[in-house]
Amino acid sequence: MMRIDLHTHTSASDGTDEPRSVGELAAAVGLDVVAVTDHDTTAGWDAAIAGAPAGVTVVPGVEFSCVVGEGERRVSVHLLGYLFDRAEPRFAAERRRLRLDRTDRGRRIVERLTTAGVPIEWPAVQRLAGGAPIGRPHIAGALVTAGASSTVDDAFETWLRPGGPYYVRKRDVDVRDGIAMVLAAGGVPVFAHPRARKRGRVVTDDVIRELAAAGLAGIEVDHVDHDAADRVELRTLAGELGLIMTGSSDYHGTNKAVPLGANTTDPQAYAEVCRRASGTQPAHC
Ligand code: AMP
Ligand code: ZN
Ligand code: FE
Ligand code: FE
Repeated sequence: MMRIDLHTHTSASDGTDEPRSVGELAAAVGLDVVAVTDHDTTAGWDAAIAGAPAGVTVVPGVEFSCVVGEGERRVSVHLLGYLFDRAEPRFAAERRRLRLDRTDRGRRIVERLTTAGVPIEWPAVQRLAGGAPIGRPHIAGALVTAGASSTVDDAFETWLRPGGPYYVRKRDVDVRDGIAMVLAAGGVPVFAHPRARKRGRVVTDDVIRELAAAGLAGIEVDHVDHDAADRVELRTLAGELGLIMTGSSDYHGTNKAVPLGANTTDPQAYAEVCRRASGTQPAHC
């Protein structure tokens, strides 16, 4: 049976493996299909596709942050978009805006840390990112190098904790707008890790019902941050709403402990993603 992993990050965002090596890494763990879903950028697509060995299909995608609700009830959510036309102007402009906002926000987090006496420097963060959109893993890496944290995990739990004194939010769009942008670019929008409570608050099932009505195509069910009960409940909900169910690793190379292929997507679900896409198609979709 085909093995399919629909959510991974490369060094084009905050993963550690080069886009061109993703296909080989996928083959090495027995995957037939691997999606490259870097944060806010499609910069890894071409190298990932070109570098894939025969027999491995690279699915081009993206992951970007959105919000649901306002004020007290604001929840940060991640949306995956697959097989969209990266030249479509409105979505391309939103990704550009998000990348610029990441630089601005990263700089502000570093400023807050510096003000508190933490010996971290912005150029060190930029060096770690190597031109990729700045993410907290890059800041965490710089904190470890500076000796302010013992590990990346430790940096995330202390200095970079959402709601903590050094945390700065990104200026994200409403998830309905995010879904509309992916659809308008011919892509397939899937809600990433909807029950990942360790990232913060999560949405209710009613919100997922509303998003399904707004054009959401699928939800990530099998993900390292979901326990067995979450998966059962999400399967039931997806069945009720006719949503595609995906499974994936959210692999980040050595920036995160989870291995490539840790969770996978059913071939029929993958076929449905391909069927709904009109933005771009990989060779074996
Ligand atoms: P940001 O998008 O800048 O808010 O950073 C969030 C990213 O950091 C997500 O892609 C997570 O996968 C990653 N992340 C969250 N917690 C950790 C952790 N403990 N260690 C490494 N990466 C993490
Ligand atoms: Zn990430
Ligand atoms: Fe995510
Ligand atoms: Fe991710």
